[in-house]
Amino acid sequence: MPTIPSPLPWQADQWQRLGAQWRAGRCPHALLLSGQAGLGKRRFAEAFAALVLCEHPRDGLACGQCRGCRLWQAGSHPDFLRVEPEKPGGPLKVEQIRQLGAFVGRTSGREGARVVWLAPAEAMNVNAANALLKNLEEPAASVIFLLVTDSPSGLLPTIRSRCQAIAFPAPGEEAALRWLQKGGLDGQAARRALVLSGGAPLLALTLAEPASREAREQFLGDLATLAQGSASAVPLAGRWENPPEGVELSQLLQFWQQWLAQMLRVRSCDLTTDAQIMGLLQRLPGTGEASLRPLFSFYDKLLQARQALSSGANPNKRLLIEDLMIHWAKLYV
Ligand SMILES: [Zn+2]
Repeated sequence: MPTIPSPLPWQADQWQRLGAQWRAGRCPHALLLSGQAGLGKRRFAEAFAALVLCEHPRDGLACGQCRGCRLWQAGSHPDFLRVEPEKPGGPLKVEQIRQLGAFVGRTSGREGARVVWLAPAEAMNVNAANALLKNLEEPAASVIFLLVTDSPSGLLPTIRSRCQAIAFPAPGEEAALRWLQKGGLDGQAARRALVLSGGAPLLALTLAEPASREAREQFLGDLATLAQGSASAVPLAGRWENPPEGVELSQLLQFWQQWLAQMLRVRSCDLTTDAQIMGLLQRLPGTGEASLRPLFSFYDKLLQARQALSSGANPNKRLLIEDLMIHWAKLYV
């Protein structure tokens, strides 16, 4: 049975503020938890849902023992509804949001609050978002919506404006490293993974796993082969359309962006860095500032591709990665 989740060390402020609102009976009926991926926002939302459903909270946390907590742990609390894509990385469909109506419409068996946990909120397309909006506009008295997003700009402004926003910034480096080391990483591995994750500890922990590291190395190796002109983009795109388990395409694009950022940093300050990144840099045609311009526009292209993947637009992954790899290869012609 899963344990009752608790907030992470760097979420103490948000937890205290929200907990105080809840205890004072002033909890908003819709909350939008936002911040970069890998900070533990979903876990925070779960911890808060458990608190709301707990019959005897202790020290501001769910007790883990009452009937409400046991039902929650068993994944069968009738007053808790989890809404997430049917497949990881997929869209939240309008039918899924419509099913909310039945949950929101009925009354709670125990006369307490009911909780809708929904993530990632940006995976709703316009139809799904409009269906949700109806629920947010006419709130049932005792329902709390917890929407979680890595990318609030991907949400309809009308949704954002109906939620109280809770921002989750990345923790300080020291706190993050301490947590990673408690999680079993040694100092150097923790530091490397944290940089790669953009400062997000939970993401860093998954990035440090061997399978993820291996996939990254292979992907970078393939990009290097493309840059050398010794492979062609289309078959390679076929290989990466569906990355190995545990790695998502949008994540690979994020690494690609980070490698580009490293290349740009090296060019401008002449630091030494990873040999493979240096090799990619040296192979770029042209010299000086002019040779960097295509890298900047390629960086934007990667950003747009990641936004398309995280939005509800559900783009064709094969075409997306193929287009990127073709453009990448062209940088080296
Ligand atoms: Zn309890």
